[in-house]
Amino acid sequence: MTTDSQSIERATERLATIQDAIDRSARLTGRRGADVRLIAISKTQEADAIAPLIAVGQRAFGENRVQEAQAKWPALREAHPDIELHLVGQLQSNKAADAVALFDTIHSLDRASLLTALARAMDAAGRRVPCYIQVNIGDEAQKGGCAIAQTSALIADARAADVPVVGLMCVPPAEVEAAPYFALLAKIAREEGLERLSMGMSGDYETAIMLGATDVRVGTALFGERGGAA
Ligand SMILES: *Cc1c(COP(=O)(O)O)cnc(C)c1O
Repeated sequence: MTTDSQSIERATERLATIQDAIDRSARLTGRRGADVRLIAISKTQEADAIAPLIAVGQRAFGENRVQEAQAKWPALREAHPDIELHLVGQLQSNKAADAVALFDTIHSLDRASLLTALARAMDAAGRRVPCYIQVNIGDEAQKGGCAIAQTSALIADARAADVPVVGLMCVPPAEVEAAPYFALLAKIAREEGLERLSMGMSGDYETAIMLGATDVRVGTALFGERGGAA
């Protein structure tokens, strides 16, 4: 794996820039940067691109496909058992057991059928994986996420099934100002008594933090542009 000095330097620089921005946004709202978790979204990135970030201390990573994560992470994780893996993409029910075995947190619980599959997988594995309920905050037909009106019921069902729900997650509509959607997600979380908010990507993570994000999911700003479809 390439952890040559040039890639180490670049990883150090990008991480420091983002950490500074996180600190600044957190301080503006009376929080500390250390209370915001930076999840490095490594989808489509090869191990060679990920290794420098691990080398400079990044420990939380996110992937959007179970199979891709299964192929990449067991080897990368071997030397660093303290790495946390987050699933941030849509999850098919037939992959629930694989997801429970591999990931430390699931950000995309969005429907009753997936809840049933996850509860069963967690029972079988004897392992409870913290989940975020993904909310379809812009009510977009093509997007994953639970309808706002159904969020409360899904949270109650998850609690009844002993699936730990730690917060809410959203991906706001593209090409429009994200702030109102972040504020709406924060309001729903408050009403539900949930503490964590997974929101904000490369283009809007500072805004998300000012509106209460506890987890930001940053890909491009850490790795550079992704090649091909993501
Ligand atoms: C790809 C992805 C991100 C990261 O997006 P960037 O704009 O590259 O920072 C965050 N969240 C989810 C769900 C993603 O699929």
